[in-house]
Amino acid sequence: MQSADDWVTRSLASVWHPCTQMQHHEIMPLVAISHGRGAWLYDHQGQRYLDAVSSWWVNLFGHANPRINQALKDQLDKLEHAMLAGFTHEPVVQLSERLAAKTNHALGHCFYASDGASAVEIALKMSFHYWRNSGRSEKQEFVCLQGSYHGETVGALGVTDVPVFTEAYGGMYRQAHVVMSPEARQAKSGESEVDVAARAILAMRTLLERRASQIAAVIVEPLVQCAVGMAMHDPVYLRSLRALCDEFDVHLIADEIAVGCGRTGTFFACEQAAIWPDFLCLSKGISGGYLPLSLVMTTDTIYQAFYHPEVARGFLHSHSYTGNPLACRAALATLQIFDDDDVIKRNQQRAEKLAQALQPIAAHPQVSHVRQRGMIAAFDVSPTIREGFARRFFTTALQKELLLRPIGTTVYWMPPFMLSDEEIALLGERTLEVLQLTTH
Ligand SMILES: *Cc1c(COP(=O)(O)O)cnc(C)c1O
Repeated sequence: MQSADDWVTRSLASVWHPCTQMQHHEIMPLVAISHGRGAWLYDHQGQRYLDAVSSWWVNLFGHANPRINQALKDQLDKLEHAMLAGFTHEPVVQLSERLAAKTNHALGHCFYASDGASAVEIALKMSFHYWRNSGRSEKQEFVCLQGSYHGETVGALGVTDVPVFTEAYGGMYRQAHVVMSPEARQAKSGESEVDVAARAILAMRTLLERRASQIAAVIVEPLVQCAVGMAMHDPVYLRSLRALCDEFDVHLIADEIAVGCGRTGTFFACEQAAIWPDFLCLSKGISGGYLPLSLVMTTDTIYQAFYHPEVARGFLHSHSYTGNPLACRAALATLQIFDDDDVIKRNQQRAEKLAQALQPIAAHPQVSHVRQRGMIAAFDVSPTIREGFARRFFTTALQKELLLRPIGTTVYWMPPFMLSDEEIALLGERTLEVLQLTTH
């Protein structure tokens, strides 16, 4: 049998890890995971880690979930994959129907891909192509928000505003308009969250008044801009933005890749603003954290603009694994758990427990901006030594059996929707211990 050290050494020699300066692994641990169960990951020495970030925001119902496992085993013996051009199959039809029903059929016509960035690119292409099919091919520009993150493929970088991801590639892509974000931490003294949203809407209106005739779509992460550091805003922003997009004849793309699937307290984050976008992107949690799957839902109006005898007016985007049956089946099992366990409702209690667990942390003198939206909780830290804080915190947390990966100086919890009260209490206590060890 291989020892844990062997796997680490071999991985460092053969695998280029994501979002990592590989040289940092000379001092930072690389953890070889042997198996997972529930909210816990286990390494080869039997050390366990509470997966408080849902393995990069994807795992909703724990590792090795018996219900999802069973569905996948059943699907494996029926159909692993068949191409989706000219063919269809049960899992992709059922998943599309169930998702459309969740929007009360405001959105449907699910278009599938495998990763979030591809879903974003599909939404951008569909919007662009819609305007061309509608005789308005001058509408070719896009708008994103300050601090936005929509993925790291070349097209998605054009609507992303997080320097660590974009800086090196400036010459490679076409930059979208970047407009003020409504995020609450930008409040000036005396300003409320709603005031900040109003200011951000004014900035958006100014751009649209000048430029809407050239603009295809505005893309946003509803309620929480996760990757920039859990920047949260009031739902009123989304309501006003929907109205602005209607007024200026511009599409609204909701990137719910991170915030969808119940993460913010409703199945779709847009529900909290009582709006629907023209395009809605889902990925991450949709397959329960099992398999790569993403999709874009859109309206009948958009769909009809492509429906035509001419081939070139169709949406010709293609991807080898479109609508993969195994991934769709994992997603169906995931949606079934939402229904069977009344997850949205039970998460209200879980979110309440998270809020309680945050209280002692909020009292720490170096902690500020404690914030929460459903099953996302975050706070900012002002450590004595800022440089390398996230890595120090990550390493120290591992020693306390926690998987936490701060973004800069923002520490966040984004746990699976099955943590017990005891696990939440442990998460709170250990996070505080790690904080004390990393801030002095
Ligand atoms: C993660 C994420 C993406 C990109 O998804 P990938 O599967 O990593 O390509 C896009 N948008 C948001 C909001 C995300 O959080």
